[in-house]
Amino acid sequence: MAKITKRSEDYNQWYIDIVTRAEMADYAPVRGCMVIRPWGYAIWERMQQALNAMFKATGHENAYFPLLIPQSFIEKEAEHVEGFAPQCATVTRIGQEPLEEPLVLRPTSETIIWAMYKKWIQSWRDLPLLYNQWANIIRWEMRTRLFLRTTEFLWQEGHTAHATEAEAVEEAERILGIYKTFAEDWMAMPVLTGRKTDAEKFAGAETTYTIEGLMQDGKALQAGTSHYLGQNFAKAFDVQFQNRDGQLEYVYATSWGVSTRLVGALVMSHSDDAGLVLPPKLAPVEVVIVPILKAEADNAAILAAAQGLAEAFAGRVEVKVDDRDNVSPGWKFNEWELKGVPVRMEIGPKDCAKGQVVLVRRDTGEKTPIDQSAAARRVEAVLSEMQVSLLAKARERLEANCRRADSYDEFRAVLDERGGFVFAPWCGSAECEAKVSEDTKATIRCLPDDAEACSACMVCASGPATRVPFAKAY
Ligand SMILES: [Zn+2]
Repeated sequence: MAKITKRSEDYNQWYIDIVTRAEMADYAPVRGCMVIRPWGYAIWERMQQALNAMFKATGHENAYFPLLIPQSFIEKEAEHVEGFAPQCATVTRIGQEPLEEPLVLRPTSETIIWAMYKKWIQSWRDLPLLYNQWANIIRWEMRTRLFLRTTEFLWQEGHTAHATEAEAVEEAERILGIYKTFAEDWMAMPVLTGRKTDAEKFAGAETTYTIEGLMQDGKALQAGTSHYLGQNFAKAFDVQFQNRDGQLEYVYATSWGVSTRLVGALVMSHSDDAGLVLPPKLAPVEVVIVPILKAEADNAAILAAAQGLAEAFAGRVEVKVDDRDNVSPGWKFNEWELKGVPVRMEIGPKDCAKGQVVLVRRDTGEKTPIDQSAAARRVEAVLSEMQVSLLAKARERLEANCRRADSYDEFRAVLDERGGFVFAPWCGSAECEAKVSEDTKATIRCLPDDAEACSACMVCASGPATRVPFAKAY
């Protein structure tokens, strides 16, 4: 099996090698699109299941809105159209017949959903509406990267309607909390959280909240956003309700989403030069059992022991017995390492005779012989240990890559030499923010709630300022 490129040689190629050779995704015939292969899709399905459970536990319901949106809808909210128009793909004819009104392939669904909410919301009794949809999105992209940025991608988008500003803000913040919990507890990816600056917020939002991860090459990755939309879409689509005092008022809104980009973030968070490393909670296969078949006489006993082990895990751990006889055990070890399966169990003639099995951890490479009778219990303990230790390791890396700078010179030096998040004082002006991004390509990733107060901005020297994290980002 061909080796994948080392991270130290070419980080970008290393990422592409893992995604393609672990058979997670492939390039589609249309430039910028990708095919999600079964291994990548199975990881996405696990993410969906976990998120769906969290959304439903907080009162949300799934629904589905159409892919095609009348062009006039997109144009109703001024900032929204300005933000999305350049990336919209539009259907203009059916067969040879031109359409009376062009139809946009959804770049996001606020407009079509608010057009429907106008029909469904009349009174405070109709609120809140807490809807989510799982769907595909089209945003034409010039520079693409498998999972991280593609013209078509899969996501969930929540769209909620509320009677008061306070409720809507609370909802946007609740979802931010869910995204943070998911990133940390499931993906083992620690994140910074906060609001986006006006320059970075969603087109049409009052406030955008974000979770920001840090990849192994020191670049940040925006992994999920939750928007408080105020009354912008309600006004654009004239959605009013009668409040408890009998007066007409515009409805307050939120929207929020995470996408298949998370799969790319997962690859970049934990993987190594042997391939993908998956946190157990998101691994489509948590344990692979590889029988080491040699002398014909032993094979039946070894296979039976492997099957017996798999049965002991059934219903508790996702397990697979790799009993293919056309590839060697060494080949199988490499393949499952490349695919990121958290635990491998090897069972050969000697292990079989001793009632043992050798357990190998994907993240550390540690090999431990254990009794077959204790295997199920032991493996469950190892899997939960691994989930915890991947998060701890990623958190250590994040913390080691959060640095401070006070002057602009110091900031540029730290950013160039070390990368990561550089926390530096900013006055809050769009001009200073734009200058930093033009000079260095680094952007303000978020405005943390607990940002430290500083006396002067590193760019314009005026005050007051707050210390915010800058980074180069995907
Ligand atoms: Zn400034």
